[in-house]
Parts: sequence; structure tokens; C-alpha cells
Amino acid sequence: IERTAYQNDNLAMLGKLSASIAHEIRNPLTAIRGFIQLLRPHLQGLGKEEYAKIILAEIDRANDIIHEFLSSSKPSSPQASLITVSDLLKEVILLTESEVLMKGGQIELTGVAGDLCLYADVKQIKQVLINMIRNSLEAITDRVDGTMGRIELSADRDGNEVRISVADNGKGMDTCTLSRLFHQFFTTKENGTGLGLSVSDRIIKNHGGHISVTSRLNEGTCFIVSLPLTTSYKA
Ligand code: ADP
Ligand code: MG
Repeated sequence: IERTAYQNDNLAMLGKLSASIAHEIRNPLTAIRGFIQLLRPHLQGLGKEEYAKIILAEIDRANDIIHEFLSSSKPSSPQASLITVSDLLKEVILLTESEVLMKGGQIELTGVAGDLCLYADVKQIKQVLINMIRNSLEAITDRVDGTMGRIELSADRDGNEVRISVADNGKGMDTCTLSRLFHQFFTTKENGTGLGLSVSDRIIKNHGGHISVTSRLNEGTCFIVSLPLTTSYKA
């Protein structure tokens, strides 16, 4: 759908406004959190300690949503550096593996072609891949047939692009979900923020790339992040 310049201006203004509101909400949340912490021992005395736990967990959730929202509305231009794709994928696996194993799944690097390199913001690209792995992890837990959930990462070259794929054999998506998954705040999860993929989409577009996805209900999902290739340099 095409947007008019007027609509784009409005969107930009709305983005700025909500970012500053989000920022302002953080301060009182921090204060509330601090005081609940102080009350905690007293609540314990009353046998109401679990109330404090719930309040803290909900404050943390609100903070997470604000954090994701703020990082999504910042137009931040990428801090680019040269990245070796295989190192990047290994690191991302290292960061997420324990979580995956704990939930009874597997995560594996199934292949990286040659010495693929990217000129990109490492932190942001990691954030995108970790978002995708978290989604995969959520899609492979509670598997009905009791088989092992698997997440596979790989990368190859396609013309002038590096294609990084994150594939899972999780619950997949119906066409309705597929058509909306990049929308801000769209989630099918009880505790979802619906920000992971909208943030990821923005990050990848800022890098001159694009994300594509294929999914089959009850079979699995594959996300492909395409980014402009940097031919590996010789020092
Ligand atoms: P959240 O994870 O907070 O719900 P996201 O933007 O990360 O928000 O994802 C949006 C929605 O896309 C999810 O709620 C889910 O329905 C769907 N989705 C994303 N990744 C997958 C996946 N690997 N398998 C199945 N569904 C997915
Ligand atoms: Mg998510």
C-alpha cells in the first residue's frame, strides 16, 4: 500500500511522540520497581511475597516492551564494520544454545559458503538473528508429536547478496499470520510484544537488505535475511 507524503509525515511525528512518551514512562517504572524491592522483605513477613514477584515481573515486561519499542523507533544509522558471516552465526548460536537445549530443542549451523563477509552493524544483525531464533524456539516448544524441535542456521551467496536463513520445524503459520507478522505490535502470543519482527525488518531495510519468509502450518518456518555482499578483503 502506497502512503502519501502527508501520511508519512504523520507517521514520523507519531513515532517521535510515542518514543518520547515511552521514554518518560520508564522513569516512574524504575521508581516503582525500586520501591517494590524495598517492600519485598515486609511482604514476605505477611506471606505475600508472591505479589511482589508478580509486580516485578510485570514491570520488567513493561520495560522490555518499551526497550524494544525505543530501539525500533530510533532511526539509528548502522555502525558498520566488516563481519565474517560464519563467525557471526557461530556467535549467535553460542548466545542462544543453552536456552534452546534447556527447552529440549537443538540448534545447528548447517553450512556457510566460503568466506562470506558483510559490512554491517554487528549488534543490530545479531539482534535480528536472535529475535528470529527466539521466535523459532517458541514455535518448536510444545511440539505435539514429541519429536525433537530443530533450528538450523545457514548462509550462502546469491549473486550480490548474502542470504542467512533461520529455519525451524515448529508449528508454522497460517496465511493470516503470515500476512501480518511484520506489523508493529502484531503477536499471536499471550506474552508477546509483536515488536521483534517489525524491528528486525527495519534494521535489515536500513542495511539495504530484505527479509523473506516461507512457512507451512504444523511443518515449520524459514526466514531468509538477504544483505548486500561485501567481497572478502585480503589484509
Ligand atoms: P512476538 O514474538 O512478540 O509475538 P514477533 O514480531 O517476533 O513478535 O513475531 C510476530 C508473530 O509472528 C508471532 O507472534 C508469531 O505468530 C509469528 N512468528 C514469528 N516467527 C515465527 C516462527 N518461527 N514460527 C511460527 N510463527 C512465527
Ligand atoms: Mg518475537
